[in-house]
Amino acid sequence: MWAYVFDKKGSIVERNLDRPYIYEHEESDRYSAILKPVAISPCSSDVHTVYAGNGPRRENLVLGHEGIAEIVETGSLVRDFKPGDKVIVSAVMPDEEDGTGHEHSNFSGTKLGRNINGMWSEFFKVPDADMNLIHFPEWLDLRKGLMAADVMPTGFTAAIKAEIEEGQTVCVFGAGAIGLMAVAAAKKLGAGKIIVIGSAKRKETIELSKIYGADVFIAYQDGSVIFGEYDKGMDIYKDKRSQLANSLNKPEVDIILNMTENKGADRVLICGGGRDAVAEACDIVKYGTGIVVSVEYQEGEGMIGLPVFSLGRGMAGKTFKFSLSLGGRHMVEKMLSYEDIEAEKLVTHCFNGRDKIPYALELMNKKTRGLIKIMVEL
Ligand code: ZN
Repeated sequence: MWAYVFDKKGSIVERNLDRPYIYEHEESDRYSAILKPVAISPCSSDVHTVYAGNGPRRENLVLGHEGIAEIVETGSLVRDFKPGDKVIVSAVMPDEEDGTGHEHSNFSGTKLGRNINGMWSEFFKVPDADMNLIHFPEWLDLRKGLMAADVMPTGFTAAIKAEIEEGQTVCVFGAGAIGLMAVAAAKKLGAGKIIVIGSAKRKETIELSKIYGADVFIAYQDGSVIFGEYDKGMDIYKDKRSQLANSLNKPEVDIILNMTENKGADRVLICGGGRDAVAEACDIVKYGTGIVVSVEYQEGEGMIGLPVFSLGRGMAGKTFKFSLSLGGRHMVEKMLSYEDIEAEKLVTHCFNGRDKIPYALELMNKKTRGLIKIMVEL
């Protein structure tokens, strides 16, 4: 079968690999399914794997984890699915066997294209099909189904783990696909005011953040407020103390502290911005009750630092959580229940044919103008 695998840093290559089968004598296979992809979307974590030198740990690992597929074969113990069914494949697959339950075991779970073969191939195998596949509803837009596999759950994970309460001020770092879904999720969970920090150069994400529920958009380049109310007269708060609280001297930190009368945001969701965002989040999240959740993939090695002053010299009572996305059938089905979130709008580019997969990945890497997510139909 054809398959796209990691070749060397910066490139993927098409190889001819043996196709997967169900082997009934293997217990886990009796719960598995073999599928063929119908539509896939390259993800920024595929970009990290291929371009940032975080390549897979084994040779010929097939990449790709966001997709819609058709079932071709099921193990004898698969209950809810049969050959011919069109399904969404959950990108993150909780490990049911560790007994810690569906929602909490995700880190021990499986990720396609990372520790098992992904879906950029003619056929691929999904373990525990009943837990990780989702029937594709007939009414659903293909693009939205694709976004429900990973992008929506990751954005929602940030908001869910932040335990957002009605009326709270929520700040979202990053206005890419994940950040935009975190905005939509924060809105759904009752946020009162949503402040996004993103790029002034990406008009499409500015527009979408408004559609998904953002109240204010601040450009990380220069701290200009692209939309939303901000009274510059409030700079009275920029006293010596707030200068100290702005550890990296970022304009958006001043603005957010000013907007919240120096109290800070109740919740901060990190979906972009790199390591600076973690320090900035510490600066802008509220003392005592603030929660910061990061679902961002941090490249490379080294350390993530926290500023001592805004951490209250270690006694600020600010909570930090770092998380992989929640996944599995239950999580993706929950995403589909949010019918009014127009996640399909994230798909800005559509292609046809498997030979477009390397090109699509390259576009994701270059962050081509006007691009948020790509769908490749197969
Ligand atoms: Zn992904």
